[in-house]
Amino acid sequence: MMDAATITTWMNEIAGAVRAERDYLIQLDAAIGDGDHGINMTRGFDAVVRALAQEEDGTPGKLLTLAGKTLVSSVGGASGPLWGSALRRGGRALGDAPTFDDGKLVEALEAALAAVVDLGAAVLGDKTMVDAMDPAVATLRREVDAGTVLPVALRRAAEAAEVGMRATIPLQARKGRASYLGERSIGHQDPGATSTALIVRALERTVAGSQ
Ligand code: ADP
Ligand code: MG
Repeated sequence: MMDAATITTWMNEIAGAVRAERDYLIQLDAAIGDGDHGINMTRGFDAVVRALAQEEDGTPGKLLTLAGKTLVSSVGGASGPLWGSALRRGGRALGDAPTFDDGKLVEALEAALAAVVDLGAAVLGDKTMVDAMDPAVATLRREVDAGTVLPVALRRAAEAAEVGMRATIPLQARKGRASYLGERSIGHQDPGATSTALIVRALERTVAGSQ
C-alpha cells in the first residue's frame, strides 16, 4: 500500500531530478523551443515541494491535486498546465482514501495521461511528452494486470518512457512551440518527453525506496 508519503517523496524526487537535469532540459528546449523547459520544471516542482511541506496531513489524492494546482499557478510555459492538469486529474482519481494500491496508482496515471491528451490534443508521434507518457502508462497497466510486482512494473514503465523519449528524435513536431519549426524540429529529442521520463524514473525510485 502507498500513502501520502509516497506522493510527497515522489514530488521531492521529481524536484531533485529536474534540478539535476535543468541545463540539459534547457539545452533541448533551446534547440526546438524557447529554452525555458528546465527553468519551468525546476520552478514548478520546487513550488510543489514547498506547498506539500505545509500540508503534511493531507490524503494522497489531496496532495496530488494540490501539486497539480501549484504547477498551474507557478509555471508559465505549456508544461505547467499540462502537468498541472495531469496531477490534478490523477489526484481526483485517488479519491479521499488514506492509502492506495497498485491498481489505483495505474488508474491515477491513466487519468493523468487522459488529462494531458484532453488539454493538449497530442497523439502518439506528435513529438511531445505524450510519446513518453503513453507507453509508460500502457506498460504499467499491462505489467500490473499481469501480476508483476510494482517495483519491476515501474522499472519497465520507466524503460518504456525512455524508449518513447528517444523515439522523438527523428520525428517532426506537430504540437507545441517546436511545431513552428516544421522539418527543422527533426533530429532533436523533445524536452517534454525527456522530463516525463525523469518523472517516471522518480516514481520508480520512490516505490523501490519504500519496499
Ligand atoms: P513552452 O513550449 O510553452 O515553452 P515548455 O518548454 O515548458 O513550454 O514545455 C515544452 C514541452 O511541452 C514540449 O517539449 C512538449 O513535450 C510539451 N508540449 C507542448 N505542447 C504540447 C501539447 N499540445 N500536448 C502535449 N505536450 C505538449
Ligand atoms: Mg519552452
